[in-house]
Amino acid sequence: MPPHSPKIRVAISACLLGAEVRYNGGHKASRLCRQVLDEHFDFVPLCPEVAIGLGIPREPLRLVGAPGAPRAVGSVQRQRDVTAPLAAYGERMAGELGDICGYIFMQQSPSCGLERVKVYQDHGRPSEPKGRGIFAAAFCARRPDLPVEEDGRLNDPVLRENFLSRVYAYAEWQQLLRSGLSRKALLDFHSRYKYLLLATHPLQYRALGRLLGNLRQHQLEQLAPRYFSALMAALKHCATRRSHSNVLQHLSGYLKRSLSGDDKQELQQLIGQYRQGIVPLVVPLTLLKHHLRRHPDRYLAQQVYLQPHPESLSLRNAL
Ligand code: SF4
Repeated sequence: MPPHSPKIRVAISACLLGAEVRYNGGHKASRLCRQVLDEHFDFVPLCPEVAIGLGIPREPLRLVGAPGAPRAVGSVQRQRDVTAPLAAYGERMAGELGDICGYIFMQQSPSCGLERVKVYQDHGRPSEPKGRGIFAAAFCARRPDLPVEEDGRLNDPVLRENFLSRVYAYAEWQQLLRSGLSRKALLDFHSRYKYLLLATHPLQYRALGRLLGNLRQHQLEQLAPRYFSALMAALKHCATRRSHSNVLQHLSGYLKRSLSGDDKQELQQLIGQYRQGIVPLVVPLTLLKHHLRRHPDRYLAQQVYLQPHPESLSLRNAL
């Protein structure tokens, strides 16, 4: 298991941490961020609207125009267009915050929203809600591999576990780069992610394996970022009960010679119950880890899948 300290730096919309920076002087404090994630992350709060000089309180903004390329304007004073400064600030912060490993955005905001932000049309009615906030769009365009998510979506246990797994994977990659990239380090890294990838995107696990199989034919400095971008894209796929069960079966296969018939049967029963939705993932996984402690396997011991994030976050109790 990789070391999870010192605290990983994660950017966040400032209003989610309770800062009273919204247009009406209020906040949108997130219980998850303030009471749970705050213990694990060193949060970097940003409010792009305040940063570009809009006061508190202020006239709310709205997105107008084409959903694919909207503009941020005042909801009353339509001639007040702040698209350019919001986008410029997004690009600047994406460059300056090189050490963050994730970003939690406030949903539905014309500045910070990642998806489904309303884009108003000329006749005043909202279009299909499918815009992206101006600041978030500019930031993400400069940092396409960075794990990003909206606070509202983190209420979903599957999305929450997926996002936090990606944050820790991103942090581990940054650590690898700091320690010195080498062919061996890259192969070891990929090997450790085998079962996490099998749970999220099995095809991509094999594709990435083939990519690294030709390692000697490529410049390491060029191949490594390609590999990492593909890995981060693959990890965005959410594992399902079926794919988790498949991985649990693979892992239990390593124990088939060590366990008694009764132990094997008990493990199989719990994997089956997990697959049917009777027990959460943590139940068969805990038994599996118990057996692995009694019958250690060096290859399995280094698998990120077994603990992709700190146990104290209890993320797999709700899967
Ligand atoms: S959503 Fe973004 S711009 Fe709006 S108050 Fe929160 S941090 Fe500021």
